[in-house]
This record gives sequence, C-alpha cells and structure tokens, in this order.
Amino acid sequence: MYRTWVEISLSQIAANYRALCEVAGPGVAVVPVVKADAYRHGALPVATRLQAEGAAWMAVSNSAEGVQLRLGGVSAGILVMGDFAPFERESLAAANLTPVIHSLTRLREYDAFARGRGAVLPYHLKIDTGMGRLGTRASASAILEAIHGASSLRLEGLMTHFASPSDFASSQTAGQVAAFEAVCGALAAQGVRPPLLHLSSSAPVAFGLRHAFGSMVRPGLALYGYVSPPVGPAPPVVVEVKPALAWRACVLEIKELAPGDPIGYGARWRASRPSRIAVVAAGYADGVPHSLSNRGHALAAGRLVPLVGAVSMDLLTLEVTSCPELCPGAAVTLIGQDGDARYDAEDMAREAGIISYAVLCGIGHRVARVYVD
Ligand SMILES: *Cc1c(COP(=O)(O)O)cnc(C)c1O
Repeated sequence: MYRTWVEISLSQIAANYRALCEVAGPGVAVVPVVKADAYRHGALPVATRLQAEGAAWMAVSNSAEGVQLRLGGVSAGILVMGDFAPFERESLAAANLTPVIHSLTRLREYDAFARGRGAVLPYHLKIDTGMGRLGTRASASAILEAIHGASSLRLEGLMTHFASPSDFASSQTAGQVAAFEAVCGALAAQGVRPPLLHLSSSAPVAFGLRHAFGSMVRPGLALYGYVSPPVGPAPPVVVEVKPALAWRACVLEIKELAPGDPIGYGARWRASRPSRIAVVAAGYADGVPHSLSNRGHALAAGRLVPLVGAVSMDLLTLEVTSCPELCPGAAVTLIGQDGDARYDAEDMAREAGIISYAVLCGIGHRVARVYVD
C-alpha cells in the first residue's frame, strides 16, 4: 500500500534485452546501460537480472554507480562512460571498473596512476566524432603515440557516441560512422586492434543500422521498452520492445464541483459543467512534470482522463466525470496500461514538452518501487 508507486517487470526488461541481442546478432555484444539507476528501474535489480541473462558487461555513467553494482555482487565488466575526476581513480581501480578515457591528457594521467599502483589497468578510449562533448579529437597519430606510451594501461575498446541517431533527415550519423572508422582503421594499420569497437545507443539498434554496430552496442532506453520517435525518412523499427514500468497513484478524495468552481494554484482551471475531480497523491516532487498542468492525461477506471489545474508538489487533479465508479482509495495510472487504455512515458513526454528519458529519470525517490514477475 503506497500513495504512489511504480511496478517494474524485470522479465519484460529481460525480454527486451533478448530482443536487442537478437537484432545485434552473433559477434555483437549487448551492453545494458544501467546508469541513472537504470533510468529509475533500479540499477542493481536490473543488472543482476541481465547478468543472469548472460550480459557480460554493464554500462554506467560514473564510478559511484559502478561501485554500487560491485557492492551488490555484480561481477560482469562495468564500463564507466561519463568521464571521471582525479579523486575517482582510486575507486575505479579498487572496484575493478573499466573507465572510458576522453582525452590523451587523462590517458597519460591514468597511466601514471596505474604505474604508481604497480598494476596494468583496462580502459576504453572515446573518440569525439561530432558530438562535441566528451571524447578526444586528437589525430590518429597522436592517439597512437599516447596509446603506445601508456604502458601500464590496456586498451580494450574504442568508442564514439552519436548526436542525432533518431534523425534520418540528417547526415550527421553517417559522418560520425565514417570519422570513427577512419580513426579505427588508422590505428589498426599500426597494429592497434582492441577487441571492442562500439558506437550505438538504442536508436541505431532499433532502426537496424547494422553498419554502426561494431562489436558491441550500448542500448539504454530500448531496454526499458521505448524507441524515440524518429525524424525524417526512418527505416522500420526492427526490434520489438515493450515498456517495463507502470506508474500508479492513489485517489485521496473525490470532489464534486459546480460550474465556475476553480481548481488548485492560480485557479488555472474552472469547471464548465458539474464535474467530478479526483485528487491524486502524486505531484512534481514525485516527478510528475509541472508542465503537464492543464494539459496532461492519466488513466482512471480504464479511461483516458484529462489532468486539470496546476500540478502541485504533492498532488494532482484529474477530471473524472466520465468515471462515476472511481472512489477514494482506487489507483489511477500515470504511466502504463489500464484495461484497454494506454498512456506511456512517450505520451507523457510529448504532452509535457520533454523527452521520454526525462520522464523516466524524473520519477522521484518518494515513489515506491515494486517488482512484479
Ligand atoms: C546513455 C548512453 C547510452 C544509452 O543511450 P540510449 O539512447 O538510452 O540507448 C549509450 N552510450 C552512451 C555513451 C550514453 O551516455
């Protein structure tokens, strides 16, 4: 019994993982991205389940996330993708995490650190092929020299990250693939051939961009059942994934309003007819976007109903005149399915003017997590 909670299906996440492995095909490893608490699905339960499904690697953003998985008993390789501050080096090495290194300066520093420890430490090197954020933009010859100079490090992978993987009207992805291949080719010609080459997040896998798979892919969003809506002439989606999370909240009160009665902060909505209003125990402190005020929807008694008035910190209000059977104590669905009606994180994101990633990652810590099958 909770005021608001999410129901998470680990078996659906496992099914999504298997579907992604199927599309990746033999010889291409699928690394589940479990950063940001597995997009709020719970990093440790998700990683533990996917390790049991055979995942040999997990990807996280920072060293603290990696350490949390190690403390929880995850023994798979853990790739730390989001760069690291000097103070994180010790925990990277101690927890046997594999950092992605993003510049040749950091590479030399990490090499000196490894030498000081008397160890040979693994790493992946990220090439900035156009994202303009993390990753080295050095020439292939400078990269080669730095790799050879780092005698206390072991290069296990080369990677890049796409800036516009869902935009099929743009040539940016093709340009990034070509730039990555040019660097990898120049290194290979000099005998540097790390076993793992990886470029793709969810979208290139979901849209079957096989030439961008390399030997490893890094899906996050698709693992949790979503494929971002593409822009431009997209190829068909080749993977079947389903959302693994439903978000519910309790109806605290039902109000009958007369025509003209206002609701909530700023009286942003007024009843235009006699209206039933459900006062629901979730607000922006739980992660319901404030921008859904007067424009979002939810599911009540198997029907799509409008969110009316301002979303407040702890409460929101739904117009449920069409649901005479709805009573205090009943649950409504903020994301998920109720009977035949469905409203998912992508629907909420569209109405809130944000992206589905932000909806999922925004689900607050006050929202209880319940694992179902
Ligand atoms: C977050 C992230 C991913 C996963 O992206 P999705 O779009 O959720 O699949 C992959 N690679 C890197 C470097 C990331 O930061």
